[in-house]
Amino acid sequence: MATSRPRKPIVGGNWKCNPKTLEEAQKLLGEWKNYPSFDKRKIDVFACPMMPHLMKVKAPMEKLGVSACAQNCSKTDEGAFTGEVSASQLRDSRVGWTLVGHSERRTKYGETDEDVAEKTAKALAAGLKVVVAIGELLDEREAGKTNEVNERMLKPVIDKVKKEDWSKIVIAYEPVWAIGTGKVATPEQAEETQAAIRAFLAKAVSEEVAEKVRIQYGGSVTPENCAELIKKPNIDGFLVGGASLKGTFMDIVRKSLPPIRLKKPKFSKIQDLDPVSKGFNVYAKCTKAAKEADGVDGVYEAQVGDETGLVTVSFRNKDLCDLCKEGASLRIQNTAVRMVKGHIRLNVDKWAAFKVADEEHTFSVSEKNDVSATEYELVET
Ligand code: PEP
Repeated sequence: MATSRPRKPIVGGNWKCNPKTLEEAQKLLGEWKNYPSFDKRKIDVFACPMMPHLMKVKAPMEKLGVSACAQNCSKTDEGAFTGEVSASQLRDSRVGWTLVGHSERRTKYGETDEDVAEKTAKALAAGLKVVVAIGELLDEREAGKTNEVNERMLKPVIDKVKKEDWSKIVIAYEPVWAIGTGKVATPEQAEETQAAIRAFLAKAVSEEVAEKVRIQYGGSVTPENCAELIKKPNIDGFLVGGASLKGTFMDIVRKSLPPIRLKKPKFSKIQDLDPVSKGFNVYAKCTKAAKEADGVDGVYEAQVGDETGLVTVSFRNKDLCDLCKEGASLRIQNTAVRMVKGHIRLNVDKWAAFKVADEEHTFSVSEKNDVSATEYELVET
C-alpha cells in the first residue's frame, strides 16, 4: 500500500490499438466490475480505449468511476485535417481527458516535442485535462542523458502552458525501454528520475506547481510490481499499458490507494456486536471455510466464531477465500455489521482489513450461539 502522500494518486490504462473487438472491450469492463469499487475521492482512474470503442464504452466505464481519456488529440482545430480529432471535438463528445506525447506517437509517428506542446495547449484550451508522456530511450539512459531528455521534452510544454493550467496536467514518466518490454524500472530508478522532473519544474515553473503536479510512472507496471513503486514519494500513480487489458488492472488501482487509517484495534467479542455498527474489529476462528453464497453471484461467505458464538462474514473479494480456511485465526479490522434478510453479517468491504492472525491463538468456539442464524429486528433508537 502507498504511504501517506501529499498528492491524490492517479492510475490510467492505455489500451493502445486493443482489443480487436468491441465485445472484448465490453468484456474487460465486465471483469473490472467484479472488483470492489474504489473511492473516487481517494484516487483518480482513467482509461484510454481506441476512439470508436471509447465512445461505446465511455458510459459503462464512467459508471465504474473510470474517466474516459483519448489516446491522442490534434494540434490543429477542426477543418481539412484528415484523420485528426480536435481537442474541442473530444470535449464536445464529453471526453474529459487526453493523453499526448506517448512514446509510440513520438517514435512511430514522428511527433516532435513541439507537436506535443501544441497538443497540450489545444487540449487545455478546449477544457480537457492532459496526461503528457515523456521518457528516454535506452541509449539515452545509458549515455546518462535521462534528465536532459525529460527536460528537453517538457521545455516546450512549459513555454506554452499558463501557470494556473498546471493543475490540469499530469506527467507520465515512461522510460521507453520499459514500455511493453516486461523490464520495469526499479523503484529507485523511477524515483530518482521523477524527483529530478519535479526539481526541474520547481526551477522552470514554480515550487508550488512542482509540489502539486502528479507524476505517474509507466513501463511494464503490473499488480505484482506496483506496490513497491507506489511507496516512493515522487511516484503518484501509473500509466499502464498491457496490464490494463486485464481484470487485474483493478488490483493496480487498489494497491495505489492511500492506506486506510485504522484506529488501534480493540477487538470485539462477537456477542457484543450491535447489528447497526461500522468499524468493528473482530478476532475469531474460522469455523466454516469460505464459499460462494447461495443464490448471490460474487458474494462469498465464511463462518467465524469465538467463545461467545458464531457469525457469518461476507465479502466480494474472492482472494479472501484463501484466508478463510477452517481453523484459521482471523483478525477482521474495521468491518461493518449489516443485517441481511434479518440475519447478522460481518461485511468485509473495501474499508476492512482482513488477515490471518500472526500468532496461533488458542481459544474455544461456542457453536451454541450462532449469531448469524439469529433473526434481528432493526429498531429506531
Ligand atoms: C504504455 O503503453 O504507456 C505502457 C506503459 O505500456 P506497458 O505497461 O505495457 O509497458
